Amino acid sequence: MSQLKESLNPFEIAQAQLDEAARILGLDEATHQLLRWPMRELRVSIPVKMDDGSTRVFRGFRVQYNDACGPTKGGIRWHPNETIDTVRALAAWMTWKTAVMGLPYGGAKGGVICNPKEMSVTEQERLARGYVRAIGRFLGEYQDIPAPDVYTTPQIMAWMMDEYSQLVGRNAPGVITGKPIIVGGSLGRDDATARGACYCVREAAKYLGVELEGATIAIQGYGNAGVFMAQLATELLGMTVVAVSDTKGGIYCPDGLSWKAALEHKLETGSVVGLPGTKPVSNEELLELDVTVLCPAALENVITAENAANVKARIIAEAANGPTTPSADEILHANERFVIPDFLCNAGGVTVSYFEWVQNINGYYWDLDTVHQRLDQRMTEAFWKVVRAREAHGVNTRVAAYLVAVQRVAEACKTRGWV
Ligand code: GLU
Repeated sequence: MSQLKESLNPFEIAQAQLDEAARILGLDEATHQLLRWPMRELRVSIPVKMDDGSTRVFRGFRVQYNDACGPTKGGIRWHPNETIDTVRALAAWMTWKTAVMGLPYGGAKGGVICNPKEMSVTEQERLARGYVRAIGRFLGEYQDIPAPDVYTTPQIMAWMMDEYSQLVGRNAPGVITGKPIIVGGSLGRDDATARGACYCVREAAKYLGVELEGATIAIQGYGNAGVFMAQLATELLGMTVVAVSDTKGGIYCPDGLSWKAALEHKLETGSVVGLPGTKPVSNEELLELDVTVLCPAALENVITAENAANVKARIIAEAANGPTTPSADEILHANERFVIPDFLCNAGGVTVSYFEWVQNINGYYWDLDTVHQRLDQRMTEAFWKVVRAREAHGVNTRVAAYLVAVQRVAEACKTRGWV
């Protein structure tokens, strides 16, 4: 490992990961250069009337990374620390995510620098509509299709869809996914990210010969992905949730804790911390607990060169995007920790988004069982494709996932005659 401090710039990390895949695949220089950068970046300023009568100007981004495989697809994050480089990295990862899943999409990501926790509902609505007015001409069912991500919700998607529909003068449910059911959302989209991750954990356990029934899981982050992960790890996989955390800290109970009680406590008090019958644990300590499965379900760069050697979990299921740095990856691989890489592990969300879009375009809606079955089939197929690449090339699982994804996008670029 390098003596220099490793880069935590997510876009530099995404580029370094691509470089490694390009080297192994022997990718030609033009294709490699094309895939190293986004094809289009939008930066917008959004004036929003606040409830107190003042006007605040928010900065927003939309990065459309590559559309060789289809219209670009990816969520919108609202976060106080958003930067263009984070959005670029997340857009690149969406490109690899849709490719590894074999979805007919490219990748994109959006972001707005804001703190929704400090904004009223009406301010959030005006920001959502303002963002769509700013980038609306670059969106469309066959162009670029947003979805929820960190701190954005189905309600926010509904406002955005409505604003876009007003702009184009027709009802356009297929322009955005992750909507509430009543305005064209899909059954099963709410827990899809966690459900897809659970299917991956199930297959990984089969591959490794690990028993999941009664085995332990620790989850970092108790938002959309984390809460459903706790529920489904319990209900679908028969696992015992021993620790969960949020921005304020974590809780630990070696005999297992109730995901529901943790959620209720968070809704009441603003945090999981202090749930009766649990011990406090920091976010850092949670990552190093002796558990079978560790699930980072919050933000980037939590498993780094500093702490990777202390990670004891056999399986790391990355429900978050970008939780592990490249140096940490090397350490985990050397220590025989099995990482299910983010853009495979958390692809359940965009896969059901794809189902939602198909239903919107066709105006014909599926039942929940159909959604679950088709999600399971796609996640399982993608998982084994990546495992086969891992074995064929003798690389770690993340590199293997890159090989599958990059090859697909490169082939689409070539077949279109771009390179
Ligand atoms: N934001 C989610 C992700 O990172 C979902 C994207 C989508 O549904 O388009 O995969």
